[in-house]
Amino acid sequence: MYLRCIECGRRYPMNEIRYRCECGGLLEVVIDTDNVENVFDSHNITLWKYSSFIPVEKKVSLFEGGTPLYRLRHIPEILNMNEIYVKNEGANPTGSFKDRGMTVGVSKAIELGKRNLICASTGNTAASLAAYAAASGLRCYVLIPDGKIALGKLAQGMVYGAQVVPVRGNFDEAFKIVQQASEELGIYMLNSINPFRLEGQKTIAFEIFDSLQIVPDNIILPVGNAGNISAIWKGFRELYEAGIIERLPRMIGIQAQNAAPLARAWKEREEYRPVKDPETVATAIRIGSPVNWPKAWRAVEESGGLFEIVSDDEILKAQRMLASKEGIFVEPASSASLAGLLKLRENGTVDRDEVTVLITTGHGLKDPNIIIGSIELPPPIEPSLEAFSRIMEGEG
Ligand SMILES: [Zn+2]
Repeated sequence: MYLRCIECGRRYPMNEIRYRCECGGLLEVVIDTDNVENVFDSHNITLWKYSSFIPVEKKVSLFEGGTPLYRLRHIPEILNMNEIYVKNEGANPTGSFKDRGMTVGVSKAIELGKRNLICASTGNTAASLAAYAAASGLRCYVLIPDGKIALGKLAQGMVYGAQVVPVRGNFDEAFKIVQQASEELGIYMLNSINPFRLEGQKTIAFEIFDSLQIVPDNIILPVGNAGNISAIWKGFRELYEAGIIERLPRMIGIQAQNAAPLARAWKEREEYRPVKDPETVATAIRIGSPVNWPKAWRAVEESGGLFEIVSDDEILKAQRMLASKEGIFVEPASSASLAGLLKLRENGTVDRDEVTVLITTGHGLKDPNIIIGSIELPPPIEPSLEAFSRIMEGEG
């Protein structure tokens, strides 16, 4: 096992603390797929079941992974489709998929003897790192864009005991400081540019295959900093290289209208350009300069997939649909997956019989303000059965 630059192919030893190649390229972990265990028997699904694929020994765990894969009951009819699944990552210990990256990334930090951890975050990464740092007795600093973070996530970061540092600026600006701090102050960085984070996140692919026992046609997920789409693709590729699966899914990345640097470049066949002031109701993907964009671009290209853009309105409608039709409440960024599928179904990109898995990345309670702000509570009734009966009659 070693770290390899995705641009020039240069190799680095696993224990060298390094987030980029000397040429500036992103690094990825290369594991030995000849020596992995085929444990895909659909039983006892949890992240560390796949430890032969994970280049780190488990040092800290909050029982992440093993999230539900729901077969949707009502939405397929609306879309005239047969099989749609939701991989609900909101069911992880801190309520988002980030826990997969943190159990592995923080285990690596412990292995390296690091005492101080740092990340920049739109909220979910902060909450997750804070929890895993607490569980390991390590100190952690999380830099967040001031005033631009969902309340539930902020509360989590604080209560887990992280040093939360609001930055007067957006995510991309906060992340710049984190990169400098990790280089100049020697703090271990746990943003998804850290290749070990993606080693945890790739287990989403393993769990999907383990549960379904087939490879789906499409994996659709929201794209913010673009680590997750890269990680899931890496997971499927490793299964393929190990001879465990014989085909690969299409990777489909969804971005929000005013935070869509990748999707815009893809659709308009232009050169990739960061977005200066990203803006969307889906705070978890309000990122204008996704650090993992070259990996994500390759994942989509190699898999024959695509990027799509959805509006805030479409995102909020999909959020309501998933909750009210299926009983699955996810945060706005997560419902971008369903919003994307609605669009791709309409324009014929996804066929009726294709098996599609939507990744929902975070729990709905992370960001309750969006819902609370958009509904009106009815006036109270008198405390009597009679008054309640009138309500029932009114509903017919
Ligand atoms: Zn390089």
